[in-house]
Amino acid sequence: MNSKKMHKILLYNTLSREKEVFSPIDKDEVHMYSCGPTVYNYPHIGNYRAYVFADILKRVLQYGGYKVKHVMNLTDIDDKTIRESQKEKKSLKEFTEFYTQEFLKDIKSLHIENPTKFTKATDYTPEMVEIIKKLLDKKLAYKSEDDSVYFDIKKFKNYGKLSHLVLENQKENAAGRMSRIKKDEYDKENAQDFALWKAWDSKDGDVFWETELGKGRPGWHIECSAMSMKNLGKQLDIHTGGVDNIFPHHENEIAQSEGATGKQFVKYWMHNEWVLVDQKKMAKSENNFYTLRDVIERDIDPVAYRFWLLMANYRTRVNFVWEALEGAEIALKRLYGLYTALGKKVGKINKESQQKFQGYLADDLDTPRALTILWDVIKDEKISDADKKATVLDFDKVLGLGFADLKEKIIPEEVLKLVEEREQARKEKDFKKSDELRGKINSLGYEIKDTAEGQKISKI
Ligand code: AMP
Ligand code: ZN
Repeated sequence: MNSKKMHKILLYNTLSREKEVFSPIDKDEVHMYSCGPTVYNYPHIGNYRAYVFADILKRVLQYGGYKVKHVMNLTDIDDKTIRESQKEKKSLKEFTEFYTQEFLKDIKSLHIENPTKFTKATDYTPEMVEIIKKLLDKKLAYKSEDDSVYFDIKKFKNYGKLSHLVLENQKENAAGRMSRIKKDEYDKENAQDFALWKAWDSKDGDVFWETELGKGRPGWHIECSAMSMKNLGKQLDIHTGGVDNIFPHHENEIAQSEGATGKQFVKYWMHNEWVLVDQKKMAKSENNFYTLRDVIERDIDPVAYRFWLLMANYRTRVNFVWEALEGAEIALKRLYGLYTALGKKVGKINKESQQKFQGYLADDLDTPRALTILWDVIKDEKISDADKKATVLDFDKVLGLGFADLKEKIIPEEVLKLVEEREQARKEKDFKKSDELRGKINSLGYEIKDTAEGQKISKI
């Protein structure tokens, strides 16, 4: 819709810890990379904040008139996928393919658009080997006794620039080198030389590649450097992930990529904050997580979760409680109801509201304030119903709440009346009537479930 580019978009860059005016390297196409899921399990809803955030960012850029090439990886080889596939006695490919498909279903239900391209780490081992060879040539990497290859963090003078890590405080071993870590994940207090290539050991079973570097498998960090640079070039505009990716993952991606190319790898690093439960990060390891299956089991529309996330800025922490999600669903249904009451005619976009909406989003994706404009438009008596409709549909290009496809979600008045009658019959303990009404509701294509919170209706 916008042939002209939105003149100024401010984005918070983790590198500078400031909001900066967005200006892409190539003005015709924004190159954006998002760290995707490790496909070893069902992601929890906290993980989905990272993908909703990347989706909103991409949509804002597109709404602002930019063409965006967006790549997201699927980590199908790392410590976790190997361990879990072995537990289930499945091949790595079969195991990761299952969770990849589940992920794709989940993002669809959250109205997250597919990126331009998904990349699987296992398709990029030759590119990883090339980068590692370059790092060995440049003496930024070295082979260890077991033929694994490690990045020598002390040789890369900018190590720590993203996470603001001061290397002087870190421990060195007797030979003046940092100690080494083979595991993919570790914390900032423990910065160490990290594995680029892990020599095969018996725990890896049949997962290995025979390469110029020997028999083994890549470390997690090199995967993203290889996939992003192969598809988007040596220099990217934007790289996204959750804040827990800042260290070590993104710090290590910078070291590997810039070490190999000698060029700045990413212009804008962007990170979403956490979803918490009882003020603690939602995490598999804490066992305090919910998946989208839990949301659906409670008869809550997954889009309500997207809506709930948009009520907060992506850089603030949000504490998840079911009541809040249920509240978000009620508010969303209310918006849907108000929207469908606007009739069929689609008029013109209200420019004044649109400008405000754009202005908020251009301020580092301020979705909470953008949502207030959505409510304002719907309630504004000075705007005609047809124009309201056009404006909401325009806003929804970014918000992705699904106004254009509402028919499915709106329950016809006739069905609602029967549901009310059935509620009354149940109160009066007239179960015969209640069953008859259920039959009528079914015949109209709707299903009813009796839950502790009352009747829940859905399409058959
Ligand atoms: P993982 O599969 O562990 O690599 O995580 C996938 C994405 O979810 C990464 O971008 C993480 O930073 C992000 N993430 C993990 N836990 C949370 C959380 N509780 N809240 C928000 N984002 C998270
Ligand atoms: Zn990554």
